[in-house]
Amino acid sequence: MKLHMQILIALGLGIKRNWHIFFGIIAGIFVGIYLHGHSNTIVANILTFVGQVFIRLIQMVVIPLVVSAIIIGITSIGDNKQLGKFGSKMVLYYGIITSIAVAIGAALALLIKPGLGAAHYITEHTASAVQASVAMAMEQQQGNILNLFLGFIPNNPLHSFAAGDMVPIIVFVVIFAIALARVGDVNRPIVSFFESVFAATMKITDWIMFFAAPGVFALTASAVSSFGMDIFMSISKYLGVLLIGFAIQMFIVYPLFLKFFSKVSAAMLFSAIAEAMMVAFGTASSSATLPLTIACCEKRGISHKISSFVLPLGATLNFDGTALLQTVAVIFLAQAYGVALTPFLIIQIALLAIVASSTCAGIPGAGLITIALILNGMGLSPEQLVAGFAFLFTIERITDMFRTLLNVTSDAVVAATIADNENEINYDLLNNPAAYEEIA
Ligand code: ASP
Repeated sequence: MKLHMQILIALGLGIKRNWHIFFGIIAGIFVGIYLHGHSNTIVANILTFVGQVFIRLIQMVVIPLVVSAIIIGITSIGDNKQLGKFGSKMVLYYGIITSIAVAIGAALALLIKPGLGAAHYITEHTASAVQASVAMAMEQQQGNILNLFLGFIPNNPLHSFAAGDMVPIIVFVVIFAIALARVGDVNRPIVSFFESVFAATMKITDWIMFFAAPGVFALTASAVSSFGMDIFMSISKYLGVLLIGFAIQMFIVYPLFLKFFSKVSAAMLFSAIAEAMMVAFGTASSSATLPLTIACCEKRGISHKISSFVLPLGATLNFDGTALLQTVAVIFLAQAYGVALTPFLIIQIALLAIVASSTCAGIPGAGLITIALILNGMGLSPEQLVAGFAFLFTIERITDMFRTLLNVTSDAVVAATIADNENEINYDLLNNPAAYEEIA
């Protein structure tokens, strides 16, 4: 059977199991389209409320979950050599997947040229409401790249915890966990403590999943209702390029990657993580989806040792969907404003997209803020920058849902690949969707 058919069947299996979340997404799209033409503040407020309740509940468990998962993961890997091997493999695989995404985005944008003739509608649709966010984003990215990396080292970890800054939190926790692994048996009380924390947070994740369908419905409906349908036609070429790029990455690159580096079937993996994929689409947040990504992987065959290490790091560092969007968006603006796209500039955009995407946070809209890092060096005038940026903001949420879906899926693809390479995968379970344990 053709690979894409297998994948569709697997997604169908996943959907059958999780029809309520899937139905939430579909109903959300229809209700959102209806509301777009019949604006109703009370309904809009209720939808925002329900969506926010879901997101906040799931975000509530992210920090304890990430901390406990990484500590258990790293201490269970134990010896430094193995940790180094896992770590370098992880960086290599995430790097390969993101580089391919960037190459696909660049190739499609250069081939289809969505930006040609787009300057006038960029100006027409520059939403004045987003000027403040634009100014903020530009300012945040003004510092040089070295300062950006400096910010990843927390001078006060408690401050990072309180602010929810995931990258500095991860840096601290990874160092702390490596130290714990090296001190030997005295680490037992603390590791047992975090084992309890992890088990409890996973239980809470199960409970929160009861709320997934209404939550995802409300989030999708709000996103679709706020989407400017009137600009849909004029930007269809841009959106088309993005969607083709996302589809190639999802249905061709991931399966080939899995085939090349492991024995994992893409169809089975997609079925195993179907809930996480749907929640990623609904919430547009890899961080918020992380508890669920971990639950899906662990309950369906990928060992705790691998998923608790690779998935939290992936949700913080691996944003291939974001990198693809950033590449297309920047080339789109360059084409619209007539910037000559020399091979040198294209390579610069591609490299900066890899850096900018990996410095982004797993929250809605973060990828668009870090795009300023790439745009700053493009030779656009300040007016063009603001207009272009503000234009991208107007169609932000919809593209965010798709790129987050990719970001989360690729985390699982890399986790499954490393698990396969290290014999840390239970194929009898992974390849048997009928036996999957329910989440919630
Ligand atoms: N929302 C994306 C994520 O959480 C990041 C982005 O804005 O691209 O993965």
